[in-house]
Amino acid sequence: MAKKYQVALVTGGAGFIGSHVVDALIRRRLKVYVVDDLSTGFQKNVNPNAHFTKLSILSPQFPAYLKRIKPDVIFHLAAQVNLRTSVDEPFGDAQTNAIGTLTIGHWAAKLGVKKVVYTSTGGPMYPDGARIPYSEKVAPAPISPYGISKLAGELYLNHVYQVHGVPFVALRYANVYGPRQSAKGEAGVISIFAEKMLKGEPLAITGTGKQTRDFVFVEDVVRANMLAMDRKVVGAFNIGTGKETDINTIFNKMKKIVGYQLPVRKAPAAPGEVMRSALSSAKAQKNLGWEPKVKLDEGLKKTITWFQKK
Ligand code: NAD
Repeated sequence: MAKKYQVALVTGGAGFIGSHVVDALIRRRLKVYVVDDLSTGFQKNVNPNAHFTKLSILSPQFPAYLKRIKPDVIFHLAAQVNLRTSVDEPFGDAQTNAIGTLTIGHWAAKLGVKKVVYTSTGGPMYPDGARIPYSEKVAPAPISPYGISKLAGELYLNHVYQVHGVPFVALRYANVYGPRQSAKGEAGVISIFAEKMLKGEPLAITGTGKQTRDFVFVEDVVRANMLAMDRKVVGAFNIGTGKETDINTIFNKMKKIVGYQLPVRKAPAAPGEVMRSALSSAKAQKNLGWEPKVKLDEGLKKTITWFQKK
């Protein structure tokens, strides 16, 4: 039987999560194209067996590129990824995340793409005060421009599905961590701690450190992407562990693994920071056959080992 998908495009494939998706597709012997403007990604992340082009999905050249490569399946991860930047620069955020995703949907329909696997977000999508862990049954009510533009992306892809028949899956991730996550700026707390601890630099915990997040390892997220491609499903799915872990716990676990000795500083809480967050993945378990496999301790060790070798 001919393979359903032979040519895959990964937008944002030079980034943290996208580059792992690329690796998984190469292992499955697909022909993989990567488009990335390298605004936050790195070309060294891209698997040498993938075909890389430095290009923005907003560029006027992007449609011609798509017509040339003719993908069967698109993994759309390119995005403005920073929630705080979205507050400071909402127009740029909307341009990349909302219009960028509409662009993907529009050309997917025109070129007969068989499936779009979109990367949405979990925490910023749900209203404060909803029961934790959040389920997809809770109506999205994002407040941040980032949450709004990610939801707009889902709605545009749903439009393309309803009107033009291109199936899509929107994966709403919790806090993803693992090798290749950037430790710059406001990246994930685990990559920032790993880098600072290994360099023996002092580090700060904002607020009480009792704020919780749902940490999901990148390998598990990649498997969700593969299942989203393979399974005949459409719609939005939370991808998280359903477990809350507070920042102090992360700090103490990592401190033990690294053997970090310095005392931790307290920094003022970030304005508007939510105190608790976790996602229920019951729907993904039922319809995608997905569940997280990598335990936090194991994921932390793998992440720290990667930062040690970096
Ligand atoms: P990342 O910054 O490493 O990846 C984003 C990639 O997109 C980068 O390589 C960047 O250069 C590229 N990009 C940005 N704008 C582009 C454009 N206009 N054209 C082409 N490429 C462009 O961050 P990541 O954590 O790997 O995020 C990947 C996706 O996952 C994003 O859509 C992000 O919103 C989503 N997400 C991440 C998390 C997380 O915890 N890391 C959680 C929820 C959702």
